[in-house]
Amino acid sequence: MHSSPNAITIEAGFDTGNIQVLDASDPTNIRLAIRPDTRSGHFQWFHFRASGLVAGERYEFVITNAGQSSYPHAWNGYDAVACEDSEHWFRVPSHYDGSALSFSLVASAPIISFAYFEPYRLARHEALMARADAHHGLERLATGRSCEGREIPLYRAGKGEPGKRKLWFIAQQHPGEHMAEWFMEGIIEALEQGEPWLRSLLERAELYLILNMNPDGAFHGHLRTNAAGKDLNRAWQDATAEETPEVHFALQQMDKHGVDLFIDAHGDEEIPHVFTAACEGNPGYSPRIADLEARLRDALCARTAEFQQRHGYTRDLPGQANMRLACNAVGQRFDCLSLTLEMPFKDHLDAPEPRTGWSGARSARLAQDMLKVVADMVPVLR
Ligand code: ZN
Repeated sequence: MHSSPNAITIEAGFDTGNIQVLDASDPTNIRLAIRPDTRSGHFQWFHFRASGLVAGERYEFVITNAGQSSYPHAWNGYDAVACEDSEHWFRVPSHYDGSALSFSLVASAPIISFAYFEPYRLARHEALMARADAHHGLERLATGRSCEGREIPLYRAGKGEPGKRKLWFIAQQHPGEHMAEWFMEGIIEALEQGEPWLRSLLERAELYLILNMNPDGAFHGHLRTNAAGKDLNRAWQDATAEETPEVHFALQQMDKHGVDLFIDAHGDEEIPHVFTAACEGNPGYSPRIADLEARLRDALCARTAEFQQRHGYTRDLPGQANMRLACNAVGQRFDCLSLTLEMPFKDHLDAPEPRTGWSGARSARLAQDMLKVVADMVPVLR
């Protein structure tokens, strides 16, 4: 006699968790919904753990409100990620019917986690801060606070010497874009390895690093906003200490130390490629900045198949940039090379890896390629 699978338990009550269980009584039709960000209608990020699974049995999960999410078209061509050992995430074939996203798998472990993308959990975030704090080449220059009081350290590799170029990297303003902190882990790893190319970079430049701009949103399993329901990447003209203290802190520190290059790491829900967006719509856009943007993009293309220039956002018309975005605001304020780096939630189709899709490890590797490109450009940034 073939026994039917037991009822399973779905849990999301942990950092970065997000799911509501509608009905888990039928293992072949587990009905779920994504919970919106606090004080905001945005949602798309999900992360939950299913337990009580029986090896060899097939389970089907249905996210019933996918069609009402922030980027419903992004579910086309998207596969969820799953993990059976808390370390190795793999893609699960998924189907979007225009209203619900469903994915199924045959269990090979009693507990399996599922997420929108390989999550950068709180424990790893804390461990990364500890690595940065412990690294002799890094200084914790200042510590900002999120709405809910979580620390937002600014790290500097360098001593604030006036002649050196100030290179800023920030990440995860949008808290569901977990690839962004994986990218920052790649930078910390490069600093720890201290290879000759990086040592020569640091002879001429300093790195200013904010590993995670939105720790509240990440903790709560948000897609887009901080704990006050604010989209930080729309707050760079009117940041306040009350509602967007994360941006307020970053801008204050930038004004204090200066910026010669700015990279803001993000993830894009829809486009299955790595790409950059830049400052072509800024009022202060100049041939000098256009040349720097082209140089960086060309050099990154030449260095890695994990980057390309054919796919991306529609370019802003001259003078039509949204100045509330970090990239545009910082580029304008400091007349510097300034880019939003977008990594996919899906895969980078110029160099696909079907088993994992785009992943944390690929994000970290891309950071090291980006740093090498930037190292070569230091002499021409000003
Ligand atoms: Zn983003």
